[in-house]
Amino acid sequence: ADTADIHYLTILHTNDNHGRFWHNEKGEYGMAARKTLIDQLRADAQQQGHAVLLLSGGDINTGIPESDLQFAEPDFKGMSLIGYDAMAIGNHEFDNPLSILKQQQQWANFPLLSANIIDKKTGKNAFQAYKIFNKQGLKIAVIGLTTTDTAKIGNPQYIGGLEFQEPVAITQSLAEKIKAQYQPDITIAVTHMGHYVNANYGINAPGDVTLARSLPAHTLDMIIGGHSQEPVCMVAENVTDENFKPGLACKPDQQNGTWIMQAHEWGKYVGKAEFKQENGVLTLLDYKLLPVNLYLDKTQTDGSIKPELANEYIKPDAALKTFLADYQAKGAKQIAGEIGYVDAKLEGDRNKVRYQQTNLARVIVQAQMNVVGADFGIISGGGIRDSIAAGEVSYKDILKVHPFKNRITYIDWQGQELWDYLETVTSFPPNSGAYLQYHKLSFERNDNALTKVMINGKALDKSKTYRMSINSYNASGGDGYPVLINYKGFISTDETDTQALKRFFIENSPVKTIEFAPK
Ligand code: ATP
Ligand code: ZN
Repeated sequence: ADTADIHYLTILHTNDNHGRFWHNEKGEYGMAARKTLIDQLRADAQQQGHAVLLLSGGDINTGIPESDLQFAEPDFKGMSLIGYDAMAIGNHEFDNPLSILKQQQQWANFPLLSANIIDKKTGKNAFQAYKIFNKQGLKIAVIGLTTTDTAKIGNPQYIGGLEFQEPVAITQSLAEKIKAQYQPDITIAVTHMGHYVNANYGINAPGDVTLARSLPAHTLDMIIGGHSQEPVCMVAENVTDENFKPGLACKPDQQNGTWIMQAHEWGKYVGKAEFKQENGVLTLLDYKLLPVNLYLDKTQTDGSIKPELANEYIKPDAALKTFLADYQAKGAKQIAGEIGYVDAKLEGDRNKVRYQQTNLARVIVQAQMNVVGADFGIISGGGIRDSIAAGEVSYKDILKVHPFKNRITYIDWQGQELWDYLETVTSFPPNSGAYLQYHKLSFERNDNALTKVMINGKALDKSKTYRMSINSYNASGGDGYPVLINYKGFISTDETDTQALKRFFIENSPVKTIEFAPK
């Protein structure tokens, strides 16, 4: 073959960083070691004359207090120093006001892409939709896409002016337009939509598999994804490799001619895909999920089990580590120190708070009721993001429960209006973020209707007025709750959920869980 028609491309990728700029207590992952690995991979590829592209499947924000408190500044700046070429905008990029996202775009020296987010006012793309790269004689188009679930699970206070459009039609027409205008050699979608095996997306919005199957074959050469936070490793067509572990081989998914790749989460792995393009035909030569200092439990010769590194130790890049250490220290300082005490575990595990009433939910609601002098209060279970262990409680513990910085709001309801509202919110089923957690309220439902409501132990009087506390997320329609912000009698305070819970521990420690046990 004519050698001029042979090109090589190495794609490096991560996704769902979620505030993990720093390594964990065990020394796993972290951006400094990630940089060492990526520098090495890039140098190897470039030495062989391969084009290299480094992509992220989004959700840089939210998950670690040290990062959240600094609006992911270390994460975006760290990505810039590592040399990311582009990222998809994830749903968690909307956890802060849009002004913060603008700021994050400034911290990033690479584009935040999404082709399917439309500014409702202008009808135009709210973000850069795609970017064309010219690398080693290859023209590569990268299109960004964001899950339409963002409209459902994102913060309505911040995303109200945005429309999240179905990605399939947009991708098809955009790919055609790009093809006509630029004739790219390779077309990639970098997405934050989730990989759902065999397109079984369940209650989620359709993800990467549906996208690949819905497009004409070869519209996209590959999808570099995120959101479902798994290593996408397959054993057979439409069957995931349940036995995948750090260090083992990983075969990415392929649907309708399109490769689909995802590197689990938190920078635990760097995905590396080596392609050869010959006379327009793209072949995957090698794929690996390379662990970043992950430990595995290994059985020793004496039968005992010891954690061992799954890969050869990757020494963190010294300069990046120094750069990030300042942020880590600054963040840690803000959250250090005990603020209170609790005598037993306060339950906030995702498998509990989305299914049943828990003591932590009651503590949270009580803390919010205290801020506004409410008769009772509510919160959706999905808004509780972690448990609090028995013993000393730190500000860090509070921030893990409440990473979103919602404000405390309240509404003074007429009994009848309140009844109608409760009719809706008490109907949300378990196993969803919307599942209602409540305090100083009890009710009965029969045949899909609300039949009895008690507030603070007394039957609801439809002629009386009641004050209900609720956070700004649910009040503005988050989790499908009826929108309250335009009601007469609705008031928003400046106090955040984090501040309210912190104050509660300072003022009420030692907190006795028995007082908050659901009956
Ligand atoms: P991803 O999979 O992208 O990481 P996620 O983990 O947030 O998203 P879920 O675990 O399904 O996705 O959580 C979604 C739930 O989180 C929502 O149903 C809602 O209850 C809660 N939630 C999301 N954003 C907020 C917010 N700003 N304030 C309060 N609760 C929120
Ligand atoms: Zn996500």
